[in-house]
Amino acid sequence: MANLNCGRDGDFWIGHALDHCIPDDVWDKHGDQLVLVSTTESDDRRLGRAHTEGKHIIVLSERVIPHGPLTEDHPRVRYLYFLVLHEVAHAVRDHRPPNEITPEQNQAQEDEANALAFEWFNGYLATKDQNGVALFTAAELAEIQKEMQARMHAALKG
Ligand SMILES: [Zn+2]
Repeated sequence: MANLNCGRDGDFWIGHALDHCIPDDVWDKHGDQLVLVSTTESDDRRLGRAHTEGKHIIVLSERVIPHGPLTEDHPRVRYLYFLVLHEVAHAVRDHRPPNEITPEQNQAQEDEANALAFEWFNGYLATKDQNGVALFTAAELAEIQKEMQARMHAALKG
């Protein structure tokens, strides 16, 4: 069982992303090693030893946690799902920190994490296809990343 610390809305959507999209064999092996944290509902956090020892700590910006009465097909919910799956992919493949490897090796890791995240997310979306749910594409990812970058820069200007 993953440890979720991303506020009420964050834990709700992240719990669904993990439940729906991570294949059972991956979940059985790695689920209890995952800790996800954001500062959505707090100004600061400390993760004590019991929460971190032997764990993969995934940190999410509060900016990417969707709020309000949204459904799973909302672009911001889809983006959060993708981000969570991308980071879980890094974790289960035991990828190395960028500063320990070459830029080429890092890019290969990023490509692998993206490929796995697309596979998991679209594998789930395909099961809902009877309602005509659109698969998650690289174009959708690029578009929402652009929007989130703009939000980040606006926030940094205060
Ligand atoms: Zn990555």
